[in-house]
Amino acid sequence: MPKHVLVTGGAGYIGSHACKALTRAGYVPVAFDNLSTGWREAVKFGPLVQGDLLDRAALDAAFSQYRPIAVLHFAALSLVGESMSDPGLYWRSNVNGSLNLIEAAVAAGCMNFVLSSTCATYGDQDGVLLDEDTPQHPINSYGASKKAIEEMLKNFGAAYGLNHVIFRYFNVAGADPEAEIGEQHRPETHLIPLMLDAIEGRRPALTLFGQDYPTPDGTCVRDYVHVMDLVAAHVAGLEWLLAGKGNRAFNLGTGHGFSVRQVIEASCAVTNRAVPVIEGPRRAGDAAALVSGSQRARAELGWDPKRSTLPDMIRDAWAWSQKPGYQG
Ligand code: UDP
Repeated sequence: MPKHVLVTGGAGYIGSHACKALTRAGYVPVAFDNLSTGWREAVKFGPLVQGDLLDRAALDAAFSQYRPIAVLHFAALSLVGESMSDPGLYWRSNVNGSLNLIEAAVAAGCMNFVLSSTCATYGDQDGVLLDEDTPQHPINSYGASKKAIEEMLKNFGAAYGLNHVIFRYFNVAGADPEAEIGEQHRPETHLIPLMLDAIEGRRPALTLFGQDYPTPDGTCVRDYVHVMDLVAAHVAGLEWLLAGKGNRAFNLGTGHGFSVRQVIEASCAVTNRAVPVIEGPRRAGDAAALVSGSQRARAELGWDPKRSTLPDMIRDAWAWSQKPGYQG
């Protein structure tokens, strides 16, 4: 019997890398994706169900066709700036979509659920190392919508025994080192791909959002984690659930923060090219610093994020962006 795992957002950046990791671990990933931001070409490791989380009938049909042993839920809108200008979009899509998915999973008896959540649920906490017990006070609609989904999952866990693992991501970067899949958003808003586009002349320059934050060099500090390390944690989280180890939240970050200027310097060093930079104002909703306390995932899941160095992440993202067909 194939061990199917339903992967929402399986055609997207992180979801497609998760599908590859699941295949390597002996599972059959079933990508459930509406292809609004994902790519059909990124679904290479199992079947694609083209459907929307707001369509309960499509979800029920997928559960009934594949009888998955678990759900990995990546599908979401995830842009901080957009979530500030259009909060309704985030609440409708992320929260209503997740409610449909969770109800469909419970109705189908699929009782293992892994949620992609975010460090944006913690909000702006004045430079403290954020561990899983830090109170969550999101400052943008994206973080607020993810915090609501976390609460929803806990409620369904209590009511129906839905087993769940919650992963709170810090900043995901890099690409499959074999460059089969990688990061490609429409439009691109993330720091490292935008920087590589500026280096390659696909964009005139990178705009540096804010230089007056209370950080050592005035630019935002983030904790960057390689997408391959991140998806390895998901396979470990799935196996944690299948072993009946119970409900748990884990941060996925390395515990080391880098400023935007430090990321720019690292990119210059890796590519041996200059990054054209324009200094711009702050972006709405950005916290000054988000750095993970990362002990729990290491200690309990045996997670070892060894690819998560800036040079490795930038090198893998750069190799991917050199592939023919990459649309920066
Ligand atoms: N950033 C920037 N210019 C850009 C894109 C991002 O200065 O064109 C900064 C942004 O303000 C944040 C960091 O880079 O401090 C990482 O942003 P990204 O959008 O990659 O991820 P997020 O932190 O929003 O998840």
